[in-house]
Amino acid sequence: MLYFYAMDKKLIDESRKYLMNTYNRAPIVLRKGRGMKVWDTTGKEYLDFIGGVAVNCLGHCHPKVVVAIQKQAQRLIHVSNLYHIEPQIKLAKLLVEHSFADKAFFCNSGAEAIEGAIKLARKYSKEHGSSNKYEMITAVGSFHGRTLAALSATGQEKFQKGFEPLVPGFKYVPFNDTDALKKAITTDTCAVMLEPIQGEGGIKMPSEDYLKNVREICNENKLLLIFDEIQTGMGRTGKLFAYEHFNIEPDIMTLAKGLGGGFPIGALLAKESVASSFQPGTHASTFGGNPLACAAATAAIETLLEDGFILDNCRRIGKYFRDGLERLKGDFPSFIIEVRGLGLMLGMELTKAGGPIVDACQSRGMLINCTSGNVLRFTPPLIVVEKEIDHLIDMLEDIFGRQL
Ligand SMILES: *Cc1c(COP(=O)(O)O)cnc(C)c1O
Repeated sequence: MLYFYAMDKKLIDESRKYLMNTYNRAPIVLRKGRGMKVWDTTGKEYLDFIGGVAVNCLGHCHPKVVVAIQKQAQRLIHVSNLYHIEPQIKLAKLLVEHSFADKAFFCNSGAEAIEGAIKLARKYSKEHGSSNKYEMITAVGSFHGRTLAALSATGQEKFQKGFEPLVPGFKYVPFNDTDALKKAITTDTCAVMLEPIQGEGGIKMPSEDYLKNVREICNENKLLLIFDEIQTGMGRTGKLFAYEHFNIEPDIMTLAKGLGGGFPIGALLAKESVASSFQPGTHASTFGGNPLACAAATAAIETLLEDGFILDNCRRIGKYFRDGLERLKGDFPSFIIEVRGLGLMLGMELTKAGGPIVDACQSRGMLINCTSGNVLRFTPPLIVVEKEIDHLIDMLEDIFGRQL
């Protein structure tokens, strides 16, 4: 064990020496994963309730995704978008057939999908409204990514500090407040962009009818509605896309995180009337929609949709998980403020900082996440089973018990 520990320390020292200091990384080096489990370089096993932060929807190294990547890697890894690409066509068709959208554009990350959505909304609105129609309204507490326009769209000052001047044209209104939204609309407004459930902001749920009312406000004012489903998409909430829970459709939707089953890929989906504002030369990405990424994403979606089994599991297990968290709240009312979320996108707001709970879980072989300082966030693979949930709930119960 000492030898392994020494090896870890060397790797961690080198990590700190050679990588920019942009993450508060846990002092473990992860090497291998299968399903719900990951192992570090000392051989210690962990149950992964973070799932790459809502990325590994099928668990780690799902055989169908692995095989799809292997096969595609042997055939063709990259060619330019100057040509038609089979796996890209297949993926676009799959997404269009299972969503509100008519067209897809592929990129490599969430932030890049947001950039595309902002550009598309501006271009469409200038063409169909006026040359001044470029303002976008987003929500306080939202998170849309780290590139400069995505950061400017993000309604949280803490992420923007030090990077000013921001990209102009963004206004923030409180989430779940339709009056504030109506007041913020001017003749320059082109779109409203929302996460159906705020993720990074602390798993904040939309209140009853909020999204439906926003859709109506957008219709009345001829504004595009953009849903950022980068975190809520790909089955996370128990339906393929979160908007399906609310009986409405957006005009534009962004995807990334779970889309590739672990492989990096982002997407922008839109109705034909909106998508047609993009023409050759208006938007592009060298790697976007490359054969390898598209093959991985196609395998991930096909697996996700097979017999509806995984989505059913997500809904059923999500409820079981939520009930367990609610029970904990009953046992520790001075510790736990609220349990929130849908499917397997769950949050537990604490009265204190969540960091020590995350650390205590990690030392016991359990990976969980904390967001917004005091919200424990659970985004496990959608294949998680009851006994793994029981294990986590028992562990949290014990940890909370000791902290009282
Ligand atoms: C993670 C996330 C993003 C940013 O995605 P990246 O791939 O990290 O750029 C944007 N929006 C939401 C809702 C997210 O959860």
